[in-house]
Amino acid sequence: MTATAVGVDTAFTSTVYIGIGSNLDGPVQQVRSARDALAELPNTQLLEISPLYSNPALGPGQQPDYVNAVAVIETRLEPHALLDALLLIEVNQDRLRGPIRWQPRTIDLDVLMYGDRTIGDRRLTVPHPRMHERAFVLKPLFDLAPDLDVPGLGSVATLLGRLPDGSLRRVDDSRDAP
Ligand code: ATP
Ligand code: MG
Ligand code: MG
Repeated sequence: MTATAVGVDTAFTSTVYIGIGSNLDGPVQQVRSARDALAELPNTQLLEISPLYSNPALGPGQQPDYVNAVAVIETRLEPHALLDALLLIEVNQDRLRGPIRWQPRTIDLDVLMYGDRTIGDRRLTVPHPRMHERAFVLKPLFDLAPDLDVPGLGSVATLLGRLPDGSLRRVDDSRDAP
């Protein structure tokens, strides 16, 4: 058994990409808080977070712009345990879920990819079923892993190239969060 530089034995870990989004209550700070919470997950090492992007909301009605990013972790948590942990982080950041989809939210944490696994059950679909349609997912994912292949869908670069030039804007998060 070999200890690694990241402190989690990679013989038993999976590389997982997590989509992060927020459009309520200080989105940049919400994304930072989620990043910190990911770094605190048990049996998990946060490897990197992408640049942050601002993006008009796709959801119903008039909504504030989103801030989106992707984080990559190494984890020993199994997929459903990880989903539970992500939903708990959302609750801790006051995410409210109503009956209508894609309402504004303080934080959304989605499992984009879990290693090269495909999962499809009542609670979890991996790779995330809409990631290939979303520049706000593919661009930060490409920033982190330009050579990545999405199981069943093709390379991130190809998927991103198929989307129209979007309205993503890089967020300068070196300044204090708004
Ligand atoms: P979208 O999935 O289009 O990004 P959303 O993130 O707003 O929409 P949520 O309300 O956050 O949707 O999630 C609803 C449910 O989706 C969760 O309770 C979870 O069980 C399920 N789900 C299925 N696959 C995934 C996944 N890959 N990552 C996160 N949640 C998932
Ligand atoms: Mg989502
Ligand atoms: Mg979600």
